[in-house]
Amino acid sequence: MRKKFLTFGSPLIEEAEINEVKDTLKSGWLGTGPKTKLFEENFSKYSNAKYAIGLNSCTAGLHLALDALGVKSGDEIITTPMTFPATTNVIEHVGARPVLVDIKRNTFNIDEKKIEEAITSRTKAIMPVHLTGRPCEMDVIVQIAEKYKLKVIEDAAHAAEAYFKGLKVGSISDVTCFSFYVTKNIVTGEGGMVTTNDKKLADKIRIRSLHGISKDAWKRFSEEGYSHYETIYPGFKYNMIDIQASLGIHQLKRVNANLLIRENYWNLYNQVFQSIPQIIIPYEDKSITHARHLYTIILRLKQLKIDRDQFILELKNINIGSGVHYTSVHLHKYYREKYSFKKNDYPNAAWVSDRTVSLPLSVQLTNKDISDVIDAVVEIISLYKK
Ligand SMILES: *Cc1c(COP(=O)(O)O)cnc(C)c1O
Repeated sequence: MRKKFLTFGSPLIEEAEINEVKDTLKSGWLGTGPKTKLFEENFSKYSNAKYAIGLNSCTAGLHLALDALGVKSGDEIITTPMTFPATTNVIEHVGARPVLVDIKRNTFNIDEKKIEEAITSRTKAIMPVHLTGRPCEMDVIVQIAEKYKLKVIEDAAHAAEAYFKGLKVGSISDVTCFSFYVTKNIVTGEGGMVTTNDKKLADKIRIRSLHGISKDAWKRFSEEGYSHYETIYPGFKYNMIDIQASLGIHQLKRVNANLLIRENYWNLYNQVFQSIPQIIIPYEDKSITHARHLYTIILRLKQLKIDRDQFILELKNINIGSGVHYTSVHLHKYYREKYSFKKNDYPNAAWVSDRTVSLPLSVQLTNKDISDVIDAVVEIISLYKK
């Protein structure tokens, strides 16, 4: 057994980030400034989108996208129940109703074939979530949106590296939101980015991200000298700052190399787990580039004497951290009570909720760590298989 607990999703921070943060701290300009601008430029090139706006979280991006697109009380937004609740919380923030559409069991993503039947006269947008780093069927989703004149807001918190049929996530629909939270593939502590090809929308989001005061408001105390500003909208305080961008600039440089490392770990897991009947390994789809954010298995409970929670506890007892992505939104207290959801309203999301386990996949891990995880899983399965 491992002596030290293997923490799930711990980030890898290198000297370059540390030196850049030091430089920022010594520069005297800690807030939104030149480094945020540079990170935005680099990210917009990377994601093949015309505009990129740095924010303090992905949640902020989703909220601003809804607000900037004019979503308001009484509107409906179609999304997936299999997500982190931030996705649906922001819909609540603008007073709209999250209309959940069940997922597919193999991809864990929204079932694009069920979207059309959920559209009403109040529907304003579709919010697909690229769960685990696997892009949704964006061609179908964009087509439906065009047919019904809806907007598409992508939650790409897991999917910075993903491509759908050759198109980079971030360049595909109206607006895409990324997360740089500590467990994500690119890390800035807290942080997020919104990309879009629509200049008007980009301007609206940027202005809303910093109090709703006129453009370039962050410069008002710069060496260009004080300039008056005007509030043109009651905005929010969601801007990214240069300390965060200092991390992001260097994390982004390693994004492709890190993807290869996670891909390698992914394949090591697959090689062993594909021959264990109690486990369903991640679905393989050659038409997409998976961002390899989460290596998520499904436990075949009928072939096991323990449930998923016990499985996680057994892993913890031998010093392996793991995660659940996710318990379906419709099973959370607030949503369950507000919308009177029953477990089987979204049978596939409920099915995944009971069986899903994410194993460590951080680039900070070593081959030895990965083989410890493999040994632990193999041991628990052999102990508890029926
Ligand atoms: C992490 C996450 C978010 C929220 O990202 P923050 O940057 O922490 O706000 C939103 N959606 C999904 C699917 C996530 O995993």
